Amino acid sequence: MRANCWHGTKTVQVQDVPDPKILNARDAIIRITSTAICGSDLHLYNGFIPTMKRGDVLGHEFMGEVVELGSAVKNLQVGDRVVVPFPIACGHCAQCEREMYSLCENSNPNAWMAEKMYGYSPCGIFGYSHMLGGYAGGQAEYARVPFADVGPIKVPDNLSDEQVLFLSDIFPTGYMGAEMCNIEPGDTVAVWGCGPVGQFAIRSAYMLGAERVIAIDRFPYRMRIARERAGAETINYEEVDIYEALREMTGGRGPDHCIDAVGMEGHSPGVMGAYDRVKTTMMMETDRPVALRQAILSCRSGGTVSVVGVYGGFLDKFPMGAIVNRSLTLRSGQCHVQRYMRPLLKRIEDGEIDPSFVITHRMRLDEAPQGFNLFNQKQDECLKVVLKP
Ligand code: NAD
Ligand code: ZN
Ligand code: ZN
Repeated sequence: MRANCWHGTKTVQVQDVPDPKILNARDAIIRITSTAICGSDLHLYNGFIPTMKRGDVLGHEFMGEVVELGSAVKNLQVGDRVVVPFPIACGHCAQCEREMYSLCENSNPNAWMAEKMYGYSPCGIFGYSHMLGGYAGGQAEYARVPFADVGPIKVPDNLSDEQVLFLSDIFPTGYMGAEMCNIEPGDTVAVWGCGPVGQFAIRSAYMLGAERVIAIDRFPYRMRIARERAGAETINYEEVDIYEALREMTGGRGPDHCIDAVGMEGHSPGVMGAYDRVKTTMMMETDRPVALRQAILSCRSGGTVSVVGVYGGFLDKFPMGAIVNRSLTLRSGQCHVQRYMRPLLKRIEDGEIDPSFVITHRMRLDEAPQGFNLFNQKQDECLKVVLKP
């Protein structure tokens, strides 16, 4: 089959790889009909995530048709149309029972690698390094889906691939970012990053009762989509001092809750930006946490800082003093996607949201290298690339 493979920093290549096979009784093989490129894939593309190997099949946002099933998968049938969640989770361990699916204790065969970095291992993730399981991803014609009896959900025929594909990741992720804030009526929420995750965090904050959402980015086209399609007010961090602007917009108190939808590759024009660039280049820091620092310092005392942007390692100049002295709550996580798929599918079916509003580019799987380049450079007003195998 054809698959998009990682070959080093800023190099991906669509090539022939062996077809996936059923290895375990709870596996399914999916013929992929739609797949997408995620902001998290950019961290692999830009060489920020260790333990990638040349030839690894990328991709963790995908859906398609069941073509083969292991003997223990009783809830699906060959021919079913399903969306697959990006965290691989067994459904039965202590973490899965708590619905903390991205912490599944049974899905990362390379847990020892992750333990070195994080203390304990999170779940395995499709196409996301050997430290997180070394699973082949879904930017391909077919994928093997472990624990297929608990992960994938069937989707109704009257909804298109584009309407349901993002249940695999970014819609639940944005939603969890907002949910972790425990928003109360009248609250103001600030969202750093108007990428796909930020767009869904904005929409979800409104769904959960926020009165105002203020979104921060520097790309005018992304800010325009945040205003016109997600309903946010926007501010550009290259034009204004974000802390001052937010303070002024919120009666001197700061936003009630702040969501970081930027993650480890935060961009900053100022002195702190130069500091992070030097330190990451010298391998003295792994991430560039500009947005996170700002979110913490800008948040109202007693508010919540919700981090769905992905950080990989160890951060510098982390304002822990602000968290302690101003009673801030810090919450984070890789999304527990399985927990949100059905309720969010219901919202799509009810017409409350059509997640396809983020799609700007539709390409063939063979064009994945171009797609990665456009999305990474934010060129051609690229917000979200969907690939068709
Ligand atoms: P993206 O690259 O399209 O979006 C990031 C946005 O942040 C860009 O628009 C960029 O201009 C903006 N940005 C950069 N520096 C900024 C700053 N200092 N202030 C404000 N905005 C800034 O990516 P995406 O697909 O939207 O993903 C965003 C993050 O969410 C990534 O880190 C990704 O890994 C993460 N993610 C997490 C999960 C999860 O489960 N927690 C799931 C999916 C994605
Ligand atoms: Zn993702
Ligand atoms: Zn589990």
